[in-house]
Amino acid sequence: MTTVGILGGGQLARMLALSGAPLGLRFLVMDTASDACAGQFAPLLVGDYRDEAALAEFASKVDVVTFDFENVPAESAEWLAQRVPVFPNPRALAVAQDRLVEKTLFRELGIPVGAFADVASYEQLRDEVERLGGACILKTRRLGYDGKGQFRLRSVGDVDAAWEALGTQAETVGLIVEAFIPFERELSVVAVRGRDGEFRTWPLTENWHVDGVLSASLAPARIDEALARAAREHARKLAEALDYVGVFALELFHRDGQWLANEMAPRVHNSGHWTIEGAETSQFQNHLRAVLGLPLGDTRVLGHACMLNWIGEMPAATPVLQEAGGYWHDYGKEPRGGRKVGHATVRADDAEALAHALARIGVGLARQAQVAPVIARLTA
Ligand code: AMP
Repeated sequence: MTTVGILGGGQLARMLALSGAPLGLRFLVMDTASDACAGQFAPLLVGDYRDEAALAEFASKVDVVTFDFENVPAESAEWLAQRVPVFPNPRALAVAQDRLVEKTLFRELGIPVGAFADVASYEQLRDEVERLGGACILKTRRLGYDGKGQFRLRSVGDVDAAWEALGTQAETVGLIVEAFIPFERELSVVAVRGRDGEFRTWPLTENWHVDGVLSASLAPARIDEALARAAREHARKLAEALDYVGVFALELFHRDGQWLANEMAPRVHNSGHWTIEGAETSQFQNHLRAVLGLPLGDTRVLGHACMLNWIGEMPAATPVLQEAGGYWHDYGKEPRGGRKVGHATVRADDAEALAHALARIGVGLARQAQVAPVIARLTA
């Protein structure tokens, strides 16, 4: 009997547990919240990630450790790695936790990135914003996600407001300023690397965000094959440099026929949820196979798939469920503004059929704005 320990008990842990059941796996999920939604399907250990006693109990009950949440303190991951196999390894986790370290590594590996700079003081921020031409985003180096811990600057005149918003965090989690990229499209490569170094990617996914939060994903992305190959090679280089084991996502901006890397997520990723019904093997199943040293499954796509995120509260399920290729995922979470509470995946054999299904769902849920950019891409 193999027990997989998952640090973090959100929807990613929940979907990992669901996909691991047919493999005969047991799970133990650790989270700071007693109502973590993975706890509805797997035993939950409630504890602080810095609490050694809780970590020791967790380590004693599992055969391998992985993550649903990348902001587990790197020292805790190290501590666990001395007692039980941890995948991805704590160094990969530490790199992905820090936007400055991560972007520096991208640059070293020849993965193109936009201009960025470390920011330790108000004066430095002002100088860098001037150097970058005014249009920038100030971000926390660590502990930011879904657009949180970010301030958009349009000109040097916004430096005071940006410092007011985030300046106190320069000494705690650190700050980075990035040139604002007027990208044409946002895509991600969801990839998996096995313990033996075998590397696979799912077809590229195009993503649409609203207020920094993922709203919709389309796969396979409609992108030139040479460009797609280049993106996959960037992901491969990154995985090999980090000796990465498991699933990760590399988020990319596309502009003028080129890629600029934004960030990597060292875990299964929201832009890969469509793989549950839209690919031969899902990201969740392949992540488990990778961390357990099992053969990786085929990442081939089954037709065309669109994933729609439900943020804040669940809409009515019927308009999705009545579609032949409509699939519903309710994470069992309390509704709360800005919270990811579920998603739907719609799959069809061809792009036209997918566009029609999305149009019906858009009307049925009064969410035309959410499906419109995907339909526009599918019918372009
Ligand atoms: P992040 O937390 O870095 O993934 O940022 C969330 C979203 O904000 C991204 O998916 C983009 O839509 C947008 N964004 C982040 N950084 C930049 C940037 N440098 N230029 C333009 N848009 C950005």
